[in-house]
Amino acid sequence: MNSRRFIAVTRWVVAFGALAGIVIAYRQWVHVNPTTVALTLVLFVLVLAAQWELRYAVAVSVAATAAYNFYFLPPVGTFTIVDPQNWLALFTFLATSIIGSRLSQWGRAEAEKALTRQRELEVLYLLSRELLQVETVASAVQAAPSLINTSAFAESVVLYLLNGDKLYQAGIHPVTGAEVPRLRQMALTLSVAQSSLGNEVIVPLRTGVRPRGLLAIRGASLTMDGLEAVGGLVSITLDRAQAIEEAAKAEANKESERLRTLILDSITHELRTPLTSIKGAAQSLLSDPEPQASARKELASIVEEEANRLDRLVGQAVEMAQLEAREVQMQIEPLSMQMLVEEALESCSWVAATHPLEIHVPDEPRVAGDRELLGKVICNLLENAAKYSSAGSPIFVSTEVREGMLATSIADRGVGIDPSEQALIFDRLYRSKVQASGTSGTGMGLSICRAIIDSHHGSIAVTSQLGQGSVFTFTLPLTGN
Ligand code: ADP
Repeated sequence: MNSRRFIAVTRWVVAFGALAGIVIAYRQWVHVNPTTVALTLVLFVLVLAAQWELRYAVAVSVAATAAYNFYFLPPVGTFTIVDPQNWLALFTFLATSIIGSRLSQWGRAEAEKALTRQRELEVLYLLSRELLQVETVASAVQAAPSLINTSAFAESVVLYLLNGDKLYQAGIHPVTGAEVPRLRQMALTLSVAQSSLGNEVIVPLRTGVRPRGLLAIRGASLTMDGLEAVGGLVSITLDRAQAIEEAAKAEANKESERLRTLILDSITHELRTPLTSIKGAAQSLLSDPEPQASARKELASIVEEEANRLDRLVGQAVEMAQLEAREVQMQIEPLSMQMLVEEALESCSWVAATHPLEIHVPDEPRVAGDRELLGKVICNLLENAAKYSSAGSPIFVSTEVREGMLATSIADRGVGIDPSEQALIFDRLYRSKVQASGTSGTGMGLSICRAIIDSHHGSIAVTSQLGQGSVFTFTLPLTGN
C-alpha cells in the first residue's frame, strides 16, 4: 500500500471510529439532551472539515445525521423523521462540513501560496545579490546556471545564447550539442516561459525586444512567474555586464587616444627643437661658402649633438612603446646587484669620470631580473644623478633587503626636485621646468625606468629636497638563492 492510500484508509477509520465513540459515549455513559449531542456532532464535523478533505466531513455528516436520528431523536431506534427539525439537523451537519472544509482549504491554499511566494522571493533575492556582482559577460554566463541550479533546487539548468550558439550548464542532465537546433528554434520563437519536455521549463532571454537566448530549467521548485522573473534577472545581468564592458572599453579607448595625442604632441614638440638647431646650422653653413675652421667645427658639432639628441629621443620613444605593448622579451635570471652596478658604470663611464662614487653594494642576495633592462635603469639613474648635480659632488649607491625585496638607492647631492614635481618626473617627456632649459635630456629616461621596474614587479620612487639632493630607490624581487 502506498503512503497516500495508507493515509486515506487511516483517516476513514479514525473519522468513523471517533463518530462511533461519540455516539456510544452519549448513549451509554453520558446522558444529555439531544441538542448537546447535536452540538458535539457539529463540532466534530467542523474539526474534520478543517483538518482533512471535504469528502471525510461529508461522509461523516451523513453518518452523523443517521446516527443522531436513530439513537437520539424520538422515536429512538428508527430512521423515521417525524419532526421537520430533524431535516434541519441534517442540513446543518452538511452545511457545516462544506463551509468548514472550504474555509480550511482556502486558508491552507493561501498559506501555501504565501510560502511559495516567500520562497521565490528568497531565491530571487539570493540570485540577484550574486548575479549583480558579476561585471563581465563571460563570468555572468559561467556563474548563472550553477547559481540558479543551487538556489532554485533544480535538477539541471541550461543557459543557451544565440550569439555563437553557446551552451552553459549545471546539474545532472547535461545537454549535448545535438539539442542546439531545438534550443535555437525555441529561443527565436518563444516570448513567454513555457513547459517543454518532461518537467523542463523554457524561459526566453531577451535584450529589449530582441531574443538573446533561453534558460532550460528542469525540476526547479519555482512557479512559472518565479521562473519568468529568474529569466528577467539573467537578461538584466547580461545587459548590465555588457554595458559595463562596453563602458570600460570606451573609457580605455578614450584614454589611449588621449595618450597617443599627448605623446604625439610632446614628441613633435621635442623633435622640433633639435630640428630647428640642425636647420639653423645647415643654413649658416650654406650661406657662408668659406666659413672659418672654428665656426665650421662649432656648427658641425651642433648638428652632431642635436642629431644625437634626436636619435636618443626616437630610440627611447620606440623603447617605451615596446615596453608598454609588452613586446620586449625579458630574460629573467638571478643577478648580482654588484655586477649590475659595475656593468652600468662601464657603459656610462663619464659618470665616474666627473663624480666620486661611494658604492656599498654586496654581491648577495641576488635579484630576479633581465640583465640588459636593469642595466639601463641603473645607468639612467646614475646619469641623472651626475647630470643634475655639480661636477665633483659625490654619488652614493647602496642596497638593503626590505620585505623580501632588494631596495637599491642612488643618491646625489645635486639640485633636488621640487615636491610638486616629484610625482610627475616619472611621466613620459616630463622635464623639470628649472632644469629643462639648462641640461640636455628628453624626459623619457625615468618613465622607461618605471616601465622596466614595473615589469619586474618592483617599484621605483624618489625622495628629494630642493638644493639638497635626491635619492632614487627601486625594489626588485629576490631570487631566494
Ligand atoms: P631627462 O633626464 O632626460 O630630462 P628623465 O626622465 O630621466 O629625463 O628625468 C625627468 C626629470 O626628472 C628631469 O628632467 C629632471 O628634472 C628630474 N630629475 C631626474 N633625476 C634627477 C636627479 N637626480 N636630480 C634632480 N632632478 C632629477
